[in-house]
Amino acid sequence: MLTESEALQRILDAVTPLPSQMMPLTDALHRFAAASVVAMVPLPGFDNSSMDGYALRAIDSQSKEPLRVIGEQPAGVSRNLKLEPHCAIRIFTGAPLPKNVDAVIMQEDVTTQHDGGQIICNEPVAHHENVRLSGCDLCVGQRILDRGARITPTLLGVLASQGICETSVFSAPRTAIITTGDELIAPGAPLLSGQLYNSNAVMLQMLVKQIGVIEVTVSHLPDDLQRTTDELRSMIESHDFIILSGGVSVGDHDCIRPALESLGIAPEFWRVKMKPGKPLLFTKAKRNDGGVCHIFGLPGNPVSSFVTFQIFVRPALLKTMGAVGSSLQLPQSRAILATALTNKGDRPHYLRGHCEAGCFTPQGVQQSHALFALSQSNALLRMESEASLNAGAEVIVLLV
Ligand code: AMP
Ligand code: MG
Repeated sequence: MLTESEALQRILDAVTPLPSQMMPLTDALHRFAAASVVAMVPLPGFDNSSMDGYALRAIDSQSKEPLRVIGEQPAGVSRNLKLEPHCAIRIFTGAPLPKNVDAVIMQEDVTTQHDGGQIICNEPVAHHENVRLSGCDLCVGQRILDRGARITPTLLGVLASQGICETSVFSAPRTAIITTGDELIAPGAPLLSGQLYNSNAVMLQMLVKQIGVIEVTVSHLPDDLQRTTDELRSMIESHDFIILSGGVSVGDHDCIRPALESLGIAPEFWRVKMKPGKPLLFTKAKRNDGGVCHIFGLPGNPVSSFVTFQIFVRPALLKTMGAVGSSLQLPQSRAILATALTNKGDRPHYLRGHCEAGCFTPQGVQQSHALFALSQSNALLRMESEASLNAGAEVIVLLV
């Protein structure tokens, strides 16, 4: 049985980023940049006023002598005005600074006379006060986007500030979620004795959506070897990832491994030394178009599905989407343990808990079926096998 780090390494070695594509900015959110971008326009683009007021020489604001207002400079057009000594120019926020101006006084700090034809400065202003100098935020040639960076709303704003309307991003993996199990019923339908509602389908679909993968299909299969084989054969051809839930253990009705075998697909690995999630399966299949479909078989218990998704599927999807380095990993936080914990088992245990204000509190039933307790949790604590932790111990938790 592989350790979690060996299993993750095998997965990451097997996945490569998908080809890049140009995307309009409004479709690029949460994608990963496939090319670096360098600034071609400085920010601000020209020296301008940060206030509505009067453009002047700072030195002229030091006396209470009236200053003659010799013109008006609105935003959006340069009037090529030139300031004379002991004069001022009416100016508005964002307007380009006229020649010879080195400061702007806020309109609240002046007394106007002669119908606005003259002002008296009530407060002196300093050199460059209320002035935004060209390039003070961003210079031409400065890197604004690194290859592999996640595209955020503010980065999109910066790209737009450069006049860019589309950008190069890695393609998103076409992903299929297939839940399996004769006992599962879709929410909305009546439930017979012995049946349960399919909760993994929506949970896995939304976990995939949360990482920004756009195309997700969801379907369900009974525990039927022929149907599973046929469905896998066809889904492999149209997907980059297939995420199966259930049917991957050793029960008579678990037909994922036999179905893969009948398609001639050997597992890259099956079973990982961890709890929950031991029966995890990973493999890949060659598509007829020459591409590769990565296949995960997640154990069907909801907590097992969740934990194995977060630890193994999430980084694989992210790498395919072009993420690099630490963005492949779950965010982490230091926390103080609220209660003493023991893991008597021989596998590392991912405990579910709530992390708030630096304190981690395990939640409810710590068994792999306990979906509600999972829903009350926002963090996983990986506890080594045969280990104990005291209340108050400092731990590192994974935020999920
Ligand atoms: P399996 O991995 O197929 O052996 O399933 C293990 C347990 O998880 C069984 O109790 C299943 O009923 C339950 N289970 C499997 N798939 C789902 C699902 N999609 N939603 C909720 N529970 C599931
Ligand atoms: Mg099953």
